[in-house]
Amino acid sequence: MNLITELFELVPLNRIVSEEELPKGKNYASITFDDGFYSVFEIARPLLKERKIPYSVFLNRAAIESNQMWVTNLQIQNNEDGYSDRLRVLAGIGKVKDLNNLNDPLLDLIGEGKFSDRFAENYKIPSSGEKIYMDENEIKILQSEGVLVGNHSKDHFVLSSCKDNMLREQITENALFLEELIKVKTTHFAIPFGKREHYNQQVIQEIQRAGHKFIYSTNPARFKREDIIKGEFVIPRIGVTEENSRELLFSLNRAFFKKLELSPPSVSDLVYELYNFESAEELNVMYNACFEVPVSSRYFKWKYLENPAGIGLGFVAKKDNEMIGFYGLIPEWYNAGGKRTQIYQAVDIMTSPKYRRMGVFANLVDYSKKYLQKSNLPQQIISFPGVASRKGLVEKHHWKTMIKFKYAFLNKILFQFSSAPSSNSVCQITEITGFGEEFENYFKERDNSNLHITKYLDRSIVNWRLAEHPEIKYYTIKISKDGELLGFVSCRLEEKQKVFIVIIDFKTSDLYGLYFPEICRFLFNNLENVSVIYSYRPTNKYIRAAFKQMGFIINPMSSGPFSYRSEFVTSQDQITSGSEWLNPDNFDIQPISRDY
Ligand SMILES: [Zn+2]
Repeated sequence: MNLITELFELVPLNRIVSEEELPKGKNYASITFDDGFYSVFEIARPLLKERKIPYSVFLNRAAIESNQMWVTNLQIQNNEDGYSDRLRVLAGIGKVKDLNNLNDPLLDLIGEGKFSDRFAENYKIPSSGEKIYMDENEIKILQSEGVLVGNHSKDHFVLSSCKDNMLREQITENALFLEELIKVKTTHFAIPFGKREHYNQQVIQEIQRAGHKFIYSTNPARFKREDIIKGEFVIPRIGVTEENSRELLFSLNRAFFKKLELSPPSVSDLVYELYNFESAEELNVMYNACFEVPVSSRYFKWKYLENPAGIGLGFVAKKDNEMIGFYGLIPEWYNAGGKRTQIYQAVDIMTSPKYRRMGVFANLVDYSKKYLQKSNLPQQIISFPGVASRKGLVEKHHWKTMIKFKYAFLNKILFQFSSAPSSNSVCQITEITGFGEEFENYFKERDNSNLHITKYLDRSIVNWRLAEHPEIKYYTIKISKDGELLGFVSCRLEEKQKVFIVIIDFKTSDLYGLYFPEICRFLFNNLENVSVIYSYRPTNKYIRAAFKQMGFIINPMSSGPFSYRSEFVTSQDQITSGSEWLNPDNFDIQPISRDY
């Protein structure tokens, strides 16, 4: 708030969009809230009132009348109980066939759903009683305090996915309802979801036909009043959720640059070549500049030169002999449909800060692709990219998102209250610092009948990855019974009393459920101060069942603790491995697959 009031004079929405000129020499902004959440009334209202800041609300009839909309239902309901499947069927996209589909049901519905009468009539659920949205009374209070009320459609459907009648009903019925409530016609309309794919020409025409003069998107851009006079202009808005001031300042600047259409300059005279890891100093400096995490040069040697699956490749972009971009590929073995297949994982994707957004990364990926082809090396690549490199891989190179991992976590206190089943068969759990000879046989005898695509493990790989990692000390325990090694678990001990399970592995699938309670008990009892055990939400159904039995939970919201999603993507070359690599349901991935 302080940042916004410092940068802008906050004025009522009407003044921003009206044809009357605002005094020059200042920046103006106006605050709007969509959906009519009760938190606007309860939290934002007193703060804004105190500072005398005007604002607007865009409201939905469904939310006001029934205190629910399908969007929030999906987020609040635990997805496990079949609600998201029900909605999928209602929206004509069918149930999730394989439980391994971990894609966000909300995103699926926004992207593919059809919003018919059947959907509208059946998406509601018995209310939990918790107040989520403002009711008629609160809206009347807001209006009496001078808050502008706008239309946000009746049920918050994706308007571009509504047929003619439904489209009209969504817009008009809500307009009439709001008019009846506040005794004023609505002339402002905010498009639900509001990105370009959520509206089209027909949607705009229907909104205008219903009497709305001003239409708002969520495309972040700067708004110039001259534009609105030109006709069917959709007014941009910059979405704000929980950004800190630095992030907010960035979004504001980005919107401004977009308007100026500043296209990034292209860098010429770049040299692309393979990196020699014997002297990793330069790489080290760059890594530090990009990720702000210091690592030793030993780290890169370990990662690229000592990997038992083979030598890694580093591709560099250089300008005037200085490294400005890096793209690493480390070889890995995967079991795919019962066959052992070599692939690469893209790691350490970096562009030095002053050369970003100039296509350096895209060129590096192209260069590496040609190199792999020319050298007859595997061309299937996977990655767990960060936000910036994800954009490049998915949007520019058309890699496919397979899984968005959410975290599943178990709280010690809840664990103690729940009567965690104690297994009948007694096992020994022992801490180990390396994977000794007994693991040689373990990996040979281990049940590999799993037809999913999963990381191939053997003794040398787990030793390299977990016992010899130069930067991270993993805490590993083995589980045995009557002298027979049954499985192992490796964790990363983290700050704030958290322990992150990197892998849980058993000889046969029936053992996961049997010994997992003992493992959790052991971790809580033997690791000092640990109060949370967490991991990626399992893709393996036996591990998932074990997690569920223990009461592991998942934050269904897209914000707050443990809501972070790690994305798993694959290239689409499928030259070595066929189309099974393009089906998200085929993957069985644990955090050990990720390089860190
Ligand atoms: Zn909305």
